[in-house]
Amino acid sequence: MRAVQYRTIGGEPEVVEVPTPEPGPGQVRLRVTAAGLCHSDWFVMGLPAERFRYELPLTLGHEGAGVVDALGDGVTGVAVGDPVAVYGPWGCGLCHACARGAENYCPRAAPLGIRPPGLGAPGALAEYLIVDDVRHLVPLGDLEPVATVSLTDAGLTPYHAVVSSLDKLPAGSTAVVIGAGGLGHVGIQILRALTGSTIVALDISEEKLALAAEVGAHHALPSDASAAEAIRSLTGGVGAQAVFDFVGAAATVEIARKAVAMDGVVQLVGIGGGLLPTGFFSTPMGASVRAPYWGTRTELMEVLDLARAGAVHVEVEEYRLDEAPEAYRRLHEGTVRGRAVVVPGN
Ligand code: NAD
Ligand code: ZN
Ligand code: ZN
Repeated sequence: MRAVQYRTIGGEPEVVEVPTPEPGPGQVRLRVTAAGLCHSDWFVMGLPAERFRYELPLTLGHEGAGVVDALGDGVTGVAVGDPVAVYGPWGCGLCHACARGAENYCPRAAPLGIRPPGLGAPGALAEYLIVDDVRHLVPLGDLEPVATVSLTDAGLTPYHAVVSSLDKLPAGSTAVVIGAGGLGHVGIQILRALTGSTIVALDISEEKLALAAEVGAHHALPSDASAAEAIRSLTGGVGAQAVFDFVGAAATVEIARKAVAMDGVVQLVGIGGGLLPTGFFSTPMGASVRAPYWGTRTELMEVLDLARAGAVHVEVEEYRLDEAPEAYRRLHEGTVRGRAVVVPGN
């Protein structure tokens, strides 16, 4: 089968021919119908050798959807032909976190060497994908895979961040979204669907600001040195009760620090290397800072239900598998509108 792999440190992702995998006991093989490209893939491919923690070659793609294609021994509960989305943050399945569906916070995954597909295990940017356990599959039902595959990360991650901030976001509150890219443009819609907040989007690109306004931001402002002051003035000096930073760079965490209200929350979702020291004379009194990771399995079901209800959609640019390296280049340049999604069958 064909797959998109990161093969050498510092190299470009490559389209290669690899053996079609067979599902082992308990595993499920999917024929991949759609796979989304995430900025985190660039983070992984940008790591120098001394910080690189994955085995090469690495088949990329941690947003996956497919059709059940073959069942390993002992698998029950799904049938060949079922359309499914893949819940990516795989855990041990046995601990307290996993028992409540929060495999994204499984403390045993790393010590046991359990890695998400595309971030250690072979990923979804291939014609076929092996999923370790049937519990990682969420039925897609009548949802169109290309349109919804990115809800498994670009939807689930902001959903998890927003849901854990809801107590700060009553009607009349203000929420800031920094970075209206893949995650951010879905995050804005999730905030519109779940809260009565006024939403202020910040980005450095005119096109992304236009997209932010189109998907529901009440204000779309340049992400520059004046941004925090602009948010203070929009909120009568109070600041934003929640700031979702989908960039996480030094400049954006500084905006978050200056824009968050007392007793508000900053959710640092982007992995741009910015740090936000919390304490007196740094963040406002009572404000909390959190760096959430991905989301829970039940939250994935909920975000798919939001799409089913028509409340959330992903702006998709569709690519063939052999175009994946070009799609990654566009993602890196910042010119993808919404999410780049690869259809391996094409
Ligand atoms: P993306 O490239 O699609 O979007 C990034 C957006 O940020 C773009 O619109 C870009 O114009 C904008 N931007 C860049 N610099 C900016 C600045 N200084 N101020 C405001 N906007 C700026 O990326 P994505 O796939 O949406 O990922 C966003 C971030 O979230 C990445 O760092 C990614 O690695 C991370 N991520 C984290 C998790 C998690 O679990 N915490 C999950 C997925 C992705
Ligand atoms: Zn991701
Ligand atoms: Zn666990």
